[in-house]
Amino acid sequence: MYKTKEQKQTFYKSSKWLNLRLKALKRDNYECQQCKRMGKVTKGQNVHHKLEIEFYPEHALDINNLETLCINCHNVEHGRLFGGNSQKKRWNDEKW
Ligand SMILES: [Zn+2]
Ligand SMILES: [Zn+2]
Repeated sequence: MYKTKEQKQTFYKSSKWLNLRLKALKRDNYECQQCKRMGKVTKGQNVHHKLEIEFYPEHALDINNLETLCINCHNVEHGRLFGGNSQKKRWNDEKW
């Protein structure tokens, strides 16, 4: 389970995650998949969980649940998920 900040931090530091993250980046050619859908090519280095690990821990290490995003798209994605309330948070990589 990845409910607390500590649990998430432990996950994002695990070698399993770091390895899988690299695989996802290579699979996506280090390009933002959201920009790609919009017909743009943007380099991305954020690996995003489409299903949040907090709610779908069983998909935390599922490469099909991962996609490479640029920082802008990653922020939009999380803004959308969390309603964009509270001050503007910036996500740099999937560690927050
Ligand atoms: Zn993008
Ligand atoms: Zn994310």
